[in-house]
Amino acid sequence: MDIREMALPQDLEMLVSTVRRLARDKIAPIASELDERGEFSRRVETMLWDMGLLTIMLPVEHGGLPENKDLALCLCVEEVAKVCASSALMMIIQAVGSFPLLHAGSDELKRKYLPSLTSDSRTLMAYLVTEPGAGSDVSAIRTTAVRDGDDWVLDGVKCFATNGGVAGLYSVLARTGPQRTKGLTFFLVDRDTPGLSIGRKENKLGQRSTNTTEVILEGVRVPSSNMLGREGQGFLWAMKDFDMSRPAIAAQALGIAEGALEQMLSYAKDRKTFGKPIGEHQMIQAILAGAAADIEAGRGLVYRAARRYDMGLDNSKLASMAKFFCGDAAMKIATDAVQVFGGYGYTKDYPVERMFRDAKLTQIFEGTNQIQRLVVARKLLKEA
Ligand SMILES: Cc1cc2nc3c(=O)[nH]c(=O)nc-3n(C[C@H](O)[C@H](O)[C@H](O)COP(=O)(O)OP(=O)(O)OC[C@H]3O[C@@H](n4cnc5c(N)ncnc54)[C@H](O)[C@@H]3O)c2cc1C
Repeated sequence: MDIREMALPQDLEMLVSTVRRLARDKIAPIASELDERGEFSRRVETMLWDMGLLTIMLPVEHGGLPENKDLALCLCVEEVAKVCASSALMMIIQAVGSFPLLHAGSDELKRKYLPSLTSDSRTLMAYLVTEPGAGSDVSAIRTTAVRDGDDWVLDGVKCFATNGGVAGLYSVLARTGPQRTKGLTFFLVDRDTPGLSIGRKENKLGQRSTNTTEVILEGVRVPSSNMLGREGQGFLWAMKDFDMSRPAIAAQALGIAEGALEQMLSYAKDRKTFGKPIGEHQMIQAILAGAAADIEAGRGLVYRAARRYDMGLDNSKLASMAKFFCGDAAMKIATDAVQVFGGYGYTKDYPVERMFRDAKLTQIFEGTNQIQRLVVARKLLKEA
């Protein structure tokens, strides 16, 4: 779909074409090196700050967009993910991590911390929900926050934290009471708070230049003013965050799928077998056509889910549909891309093997695709 079909404001169209150029000219040439090294890229981070791509969701006065924020995030993520999924994830996690502060934080807390998230101060955020014993089942978290005078003291181990080792500010979900979902509360924690340390760094299959670590909290003391929202509202805010972030993860998957299709098309025109380009063999054509149709269908879901979010309408069902449809499509299309490249697809000479590894994560994080199907089915049954 040409984004002009969506009648977007001109400034958003311009943003998307600028991001497309950045992705092609500056990120694509270094994407395989970033993957190989498996290290967080300060170079890419700087590019994203410079272009305002890490502040899209902030209020306008702090560098955010005035409207269509989630759609803009999705469109920019899609463009970057076409060439480098890891770089695109940096944008998503900044939005996910800052969500509790933006939407549940007190005015005082926003005044104190939002200036540090701007393109001038450049503080990265991380979102600490998952624990070794609690992933899909968020309500099983065991990190505790115990009140002590005017402070809260946090203890526990968080894992799989994207940006864990590079962030300056953390949104931490902790248990403040025994109730499964109503006993959870978010806190904002500075990196340099005594008792916070970075644990194991994950050596991952894909999206390797994102930084994924454990974060250990031992007697981490924060003032009660660092509570995000009211006590017991943490689960609710985590679910609301998903409404914004799942379309963005779907957009990342969509971008990977588009990148893989682009690679397939150029290889199918070039590579010859049995005296003709492989793109003239009907079984290859079926792969190309199927991929293109899935991408078009996925775009419709992503853009609609994001638009509904921006309009303040309930989008949970569409966001989950977009997430599982695009995640599964990306995995299938990237797998097909390796197949279309034959033996060469199995080597690091072409980006399709990286896309194949990167795609897998889109079926797992921000709620696995099984969990997304549960969300959709439960909504359908409730509505029926
Ligand atoms: C690279 C990476 C980055 C991540 N970044 C972050 C981050 O920044 N912050 C954060 O908080 N978390 C993050 N995560 C965690 C991620 O969200 C979880 O891994 C994910 O939600 C799944 O949880 P789990 O790994 O504990 O799997 P489990 O919950 O143990 O699930 C195992 C399997 O069982 C299935 N399953 C579980 N329950 C059901 C059910 N009821 N019905 C059917 N099937 C079910 C799952 O779909 C899965 O296939 C990240 C993970 C990875 C790998």
